[in-house]
Amino acid sequence: MSNSGLRILLLGAPGAGKGTQAALLAKTLKVPHISTGDMFRAAKAAGSPMGVMARKYMERGELVPDKVTIGIVEERLKQKDTAHGWILDGFPRTPGQAAALDDLLARLHQQLDAVVKLTVPREELIRRLTGRRVCPDCGANYHVDSAPPKKDGVCDRCAHALEQREDDSEATVMHRLDVYNESTRPLIAFYEKKGVLHRIDGTQPVNVVNAEVVAAARAGAKAPVKAR
Ligand code: AMP
Repeated sequence: MSNSGLRILLLGAPGAGKGTQAALLAKTLKVPHISTGDMFRAAKAAGSPMGVMARKYMERGELVPDKVTIGIVEERLKQKDTAHGWILDGFPRTPGQAAALDDLLARLHQQLDAVVKLTVPREELIRRLTGRRVCPDCGANYHVDSAPPKKDGVCDRCAHALEQREDDSEATVMHRLDVYNESTRPLIAFYEKKGVLHRIDGTQPVNVVNAEVVAAARAGAKAPVKAR
């Protein structure tokens, strides 16, 4: 059985900081960061048939159907660079995806070390998401109030014009949060029952959240397999 490396899943509402934490964690632990949202955005930008299809759901703040989403994750987790661990960000998001992940990991002889749930109040999620600005060129993230670029609307790193994500408009953000509550929230109890869930306060400074996530991941890796 292949047990080396760390396999961590980040759960939490849109805007809870999963992407930021996953990127930091991937760097620290030297494992790939697998974000289904990033995969769909890349497919959309490339104009592939899957991207064109996914776009219709993404711009409305809806979930891309399970069959497609499970398919891309399955393909990704079979690639060689994931053999020694990974950070999953934004997947699973439905009970069907969670069941499919269990099944896939059993077939790959892998197991989850930790599921980290980042908790942030709804008002703060709305503030973060509606104020978010992204650089379409280098991927840098900003916030109009709490992390503004030096020059208004321009990326500090590469000087490209910043954009608001199509799905960060206020109406779509509200819908995404409702979709999270309805479809994804039940996964908290699912992973709690398995004994792998760690709850972390996502309103703390980024470096504090990161330290707590790393500690949770390492504690999870040391826990007896039976308890999972
Ligand atoms: P994110 O960047 O994780 O907020 O994802 C952006 C959008 O991509 C979501 O609002 C969904 O439309 C789609 N998406 C990302 N991950 C999933 C998933 N696991 N299941 C279904 N749709 C997803």
